[in-house]
Amino acid sequence: MTDRRDLIVGNWKMNATHLDAIQMIQKLHYRLELDDYDRVDVVVAPPFTALRSAQTVIEADRMLIQLGAQNAHWEENGAFTGEVSAPMLERLAVSYVILGHSERRQYFGETDELVNKRTRAVLGAGMTPIVCVGETLSQREDGEAQSVVGSQLRGAFARLGPDLVGACSIAYEPVWAIGTGRTASPEDAGDMAAFIRETLIEIANSDTAEQVRVLYGGSVNAGNVKDLMAKRHVDGALVGGASLDPDKFAAIVRYRL
Ligand code: PEP
Repeated sequence: MTDRRDLIVGNWKMNATHLDAIQMIQKLHYRLELDDYDRVDVVVAPPFTALRSAQTVIEADRMLIQLGAQNAHWEENGAFTGEVSAPMLERLAVSYVILGHSERRQYFGETDELVNKRTRAVLGAGMTPIVCVGETLSQREDGEAQSVVGSQLRGAFARLGPDLVGACSIAYEPVWAIGTGRTASPEDAGDMAAFIRETLIEIANSDTAEQVRVLYGGSVNAGNVKDLMAKRHVDGALVGGASLDPDKFAAIVRYRL
């Protein structure tokens, strides 16, 4: 066991209107007990359009659920039509920002260099980047999983000092496990989380590596979360599909070793 607190994040992707979000957050709140929050940081990341409503309901009912966003631009403001900046998110009480998700890499041309710029902006606005890394199925089959993840980490954290790296979280999400119902085995997830921590020692130092929370993501559900979380280097979960159902997400949050 380590003293890293668990972090469980629901990535709602492009789902839920602001009205849906209010209901989903209220339901999740009612399904969790106060002592759940003693063990786990519970985060939901709705679409941008639902953040203000989510913030309002969370603050009005003094909920302990925290807010995440699914991306952030690297500039504070300017002529970037369609984009949302880190300070705008921070003003909505967003605490975490998911960056470099494989869907953004696959569909929106996200590169390690852009993830690096976004990471700096999110840190600069006082929020926690959740930097996503992970290999495709063919990369795993070709024995390249570690080299891919290592290079994504080096790209995302390029020219960041240990203090800034230490203020980030990382989500290991094998692309072949996202939304497929196919989960990495706890051994594979644990091994990659250990490799990520070793890489952080090289990128930063051992104190930083011990401090950073490493999440697993990819078809996490109430049935597999416990075995994944039992691995020493896995500190939480990034949950897609199952986070849209407050019952399922609450059951994941409430797992016990
Ligand atoms: C994700 O989108 O980050 C994810 C892990 O999705 P799912 O849980 O649906 O596989």
